[in-house]
Amino acid sequence: MRLTILAGYLGAGKTTWLRHQRHIGNFVPAHVIVNEAAGIPVDDALLTGAQVLAGGCCCCAGKEAFRTALHQRADLSSRGMPQDVVIETSGLADPASILEMIRTDPLLRHHFTLEPTTVLVDALHARDQLMSDALARRQITVADRIILTKVDQASRSDIQLLLGLLQRLAPMARIEGSHMGEPYPLPSASAFVGDLPDTANDPLPQAHTLHMPADMNWTAFGVWLSALLHARGRDIMRVKGVIRTPAGRLLVQTVRGIVQKPEVIPKTSHAIDNHLVFIGRGYDTDRLEQSFRKFARL
Ligand SMILES: [Zn+2]
Repeated sequence: MRLTILAGYLGAGKTTWLRHQRHIGNFVPAHVIVNEAAGIPVDDALLTGAQVLAGGCCCCAGKEAFRTALHQRADLSSRGMPQDVVIETSGLADPASILEMIRTDPLLRHHFTLEPTTVLVDALHARDQLMSDALARRQITVADRIILTKVDQASRSDIQLLLGLLQRLAPMARIEGSHMGEPYPLPSASAFVGDLPDTANDPLPQAHTLHMPADMNWTAFGVWLSALLHARGRDIMRVKGVIRTPAGRLLVQTVRGIVQKPEVIPKTSHAIDNHLVFIGRGYDTDRLEQSFRKFARL
């Protein structure tokens, strides 16, 4: 069975890209595993039919759960039901750790061949992330295939500089552009000049879940979230969750301080309502709770 590791920083657009690929017949048929580092599965709302592994990143805390899931696929294969596997990793995952797990597990090595490790990169934010975050760089250095997303929103010169940086980090990788899952032409790279910073001592990203009351005042919540992102937008890397509002169940997410347009999700999705996951670093989760409770008058 072929195994594809799909990685990329928080908000790079992995789910959108994979969903489109499957729509046009790539990675079909395949068993899709979606890994959420936080405890609440949300992406399954958008990628139906996927197996969700939540509550631990599959490169570290959730590694054994992922190994078990792959052993189950190997078992099915032994009984005559092989199926390719695509793992959509959490944004916090270091693909090198997953590759290592597969290479060193005799059963997995026997049953799976690794497809090119595919890493999605957000053209708008990646240069900033790559210069400041060792994890973002580790994801790139193991990529065989890099897919730039949101290229339509970035300037040509920014893309050229990003391409130079990516080529420096992953000289062997194939780099492609993508817009809503479709191929998108890329300009030529500008050579990267200078040194990469040493960020070995960066605090590691952490996830925290806020539980919201059913009678939440959504206007007040909106004000609180905006104020939070305004003040700590660089530390709060991602906010994601499903909230139940008079307008229906809405998938709310932010990427690097930008609140994305809420998406109405199907009733059948088993994402848990009114839980909002915050992923960030360098902030105190108690203070986040206190601030939220004060605002929501809990
Ligand atoms: Zn991990």
